[in-house]
Amino acid sequence: MKTIDDLEVSGKRVLVRADLNVPLDGTRITDDGRIRASVPTLKTLLERGAKVIVTAHLGRPKGDPEGDKKYSLAPVAVRLSELLGAPVAFAADTVGESAKATVAALKDGEIALLENVRFNPAETSKDAVERGKFADQLAAFADLFVSDGFGAVHRRHASVYDVAEDLPNAAGYLITAELNVLKRLTENVERPYVVVLGGSKVSDKLGVIDNLLDKADRILIGGGMVFTFLKAQGHEVGKSLLEEDQLDTVRGYLERAKDSGVEIVLPVDVVAATAFAADAEHDVVAADAIPADRLGLDIGPESGKLFAAKLAGVKTVFWNGPMGVFEMEPYAAGTRAVAQGLIDSGAFTVVGGGDSAAAVRALGFDEAAFGHISTGGGASLEYLEGKDLPGISVLEG
Ligand code: ADP
Ligand code: MG
Repeated sequence: MKTIDDLEVSGKRVLVRADLNVPLDGTRITDDGRIRASVPTLKTLLERGAKVIVTAHLGRPKGDPEGDKKYSLAPVAVRLSELLGAPVAFAADTVGESAKATVAALKDGEIALLENVRFNPAETSKDAVERGKFADQLAAFADLFVSDGFGAVHRRHASVYDVAEDLPNAAGYLITAELNVLKRLTENVERPYVVVLGGSKVSDKLGVIDNLLDKADRILIGGGMVFTFLKAQGHEVGKSLLEEDQLDTVRGYLERAKDSGVEIVLPVDVVAATAFAADAEHDVVAADAIPADRLGLDIGPESGKLFAAKLAGVKTVFWNGPMGVFEMEPYAAGTRAVAQGLIDSGAFTVVGGGDSAAAVRALGFDEAAFGHISTGGGASLEYLEGKDLPGISVLEG
């Protein structure tokens, strides 16, 4: 794969697909990790005298101009400018008049950000012709394409995939850094290799569990997905998150793990609340004794200790998915315990997933204490599942 170091960019117009999909509270960015991760590539291109045109998405706009205003990248342009220490021209559309004028006004060493690429439905269209036409419009802005939006490379989208077919291209530094880490998790991984999975939906993560059952030595499971596992073992889970339709699959995994000698570790206690709210009544209960009228919103303190003990002294850890509803303080302790467990393990640790990465920062951990914090949840998981990442395989060799 070519990198930006292989491109002659001085005086050239370079279209960069970045991942700037940050969580917002109104127009306030609550976690700027992905913007910061995009800076090295952008800075390098600017220093080398390129005209840089950035395209990115934010959230999942639904095609309703009024309701979609909250998905504008305008606040991101402001933060990006602060981080670069340079003005970022912001185009109010993606390929329209504003974008054309903004790009035309760029001088060497200047940068523009185009409005949310998903405001154009062709970006995510299943129709390759429709997508291709939109990609052509984006490509018309530039001489070269740099793919650096790791969080989106598992998507066959116009600005990720099709545009790479239109222009000479290369991977940015974020993509190469992320891939190097993922290779360390798949090729000759240092053992013991422990995977910690949590988050909200089992069905999102089944593929990766399926694959990891042949690769990991131990899998720790918490978060909302754990209740499908507890239920599969025959326990009451009350009103906790549950995916009934996955129970058989999960039972199959528990069997397979037994046969292949992979240790699956489930919580022994749970924080059970009366409602999905920070001020709801909540108690620690045994994992096999969740009251029928309660829902589990975090793993309990004994489980936090157990999980930390299962991480101690291992060589490699991949963690995806918070252990509980960490956004609410009463349910953050499990995620905190696991984050600390990773740090204390002495292992090469990788945190993947948008919410997991946001959690470690929101809970006050030093990012440098982890081996790597990935910007891409879905992309990392699909890589670990052994799936092809269209946005990577389309790049020139
Ligand atoms: P990531 O983005 O790291 O891949 P997910 O998107 O899968 O993680 O899941 C993150 C979300 O899971 C968080 O918003 C968190 O509140 C939620 N979550 C964790 N534990 C529970 C639980 N027990 N019940 C409901 N939601 C949960
Ligand atoms: Mg998420």
